[in-house]
Amino acid sequence: MIAKTPFGVTVNGAAVDLYQLTNAQGMQVKIITYGGIITSIRVPDSFGNMANVVLGYPTLSDYERLSDPYFGALIGRYANRLAKGKFTLDGKEYQLSVNDGLNTLHGGKTGFDKVVWNAVSSAHGLTLSHRSPDGDNGFPGSLMVTVAYTLTDDNALHLEYSATTDQPTVVNLTNHAYFNLSGEGTRDIYDHILRINADHFTKSDSQLIPTGEIAPVECTALDFRVPKAIGTGVRSNDPQIVAARGYDHNWVLNQTEPPSLITAARLYDPHSGRILEVLTDQIGLQFYSGNFLTGVGYGSSGRSYRQSDGLALETQHYPDSPNRPEFPSTVLRPGETYRTTTIYKFSTVRA
Ligand code: BGC
Repeated sequence: MIAKTPFGVTVNGAAVDLYQLTNAQGMQVKIITYGGIITSIRVPDSFGNMANVVLGYPTLSDYERLSDPYFGALIGRYANRLAKGKFTLDGKEYQLSVNDGLNTLHGGKTGFDKVVWNAVSSAHGLTLSHRSPDGDNGFPGSLMVTVAYTLTDDNALHLEYSATTDQPTVVNLTNHAYFNLSGEGTRDIYDHILRINADHFTKSDSQLIPTGEIAPVECTALDFRVPKAIGTGVRSNDPQIVAARGYDHNWVLNQTEPPSLITAARLYDPHSGRILEVLTDQIGLQFYSGNFLTGVGYGSSGRSYRQSDGLALETQHYPDSPNRPEFPSTVLRPGETYRTTTIYKFSTVRA
């Protein structure tokens, strides 16, 4: 079931709608057309009590004013960082808008998180679309993007992204939901137990730009091959963790042959019994432990969020790939279709 209500008007005068998807089990997902933002996901705990498990804001004006954390938003054209806000494609250098020191983060100053998307709803979901013009934030090519959100009766939210271009360009799309399986605004996520299906990660420098080295997770705080509590490593002395103030890295997901949807991560909250599995066909996963949440503004239920009040699991290509020929390519050419799927699947277990 899907219901639509007005969510306000942007500072530029564009009307924004909120779509509420509800499945047969009563799970509810709210998405707004501004930034394609998932503002709420209500799922049961192991006793059937419902809670919203994603961070967000109560009003459109909060999302516009306090956009830094990218709560729940669609991220494009290039998720994560591009070093020095530049890349070269087919011999031509492109200068992008920079918004993270000298680097470009999540598509630049006015990324897809700040766009009002066109919406078409159906019985089970919502499809958002947007045409990003040639030169948008410095990226070449007119890019047509669609993102379909489908809520299934087994408590899974499917996100299917696609994009086409009229000129060679680079694309890397993701969603920036922050999860707290105990419930948004209730407690930190240090007790959440995480498994990441990755033997390696991309090492990064002090600006969180990959150095190019693909390093084993073994014997580091980034080893989540065996499930462990986030709190055990988030303040470790590992130089990678110190530089990022916690976890903020790209894991190189273990692939299957032939490639298929894999369970990239599994998150379990012993307090509520809730489990989140992230399935994807993407090759990378940014696990970000909310290190830069500084208590600015008030979240959906009126509480401010600080470091580690939520965590993001962003399925993606590796950061800065356009400047790293040794990383798998993110180039999209006319005639090709970029397609990727990520599923957030919820369940419970009695603690
Ligand atoms: C990045 C963080 C950044 C956060 C919010 C994450 O994807 O990896 O470094 O602070 O997004 O902008």
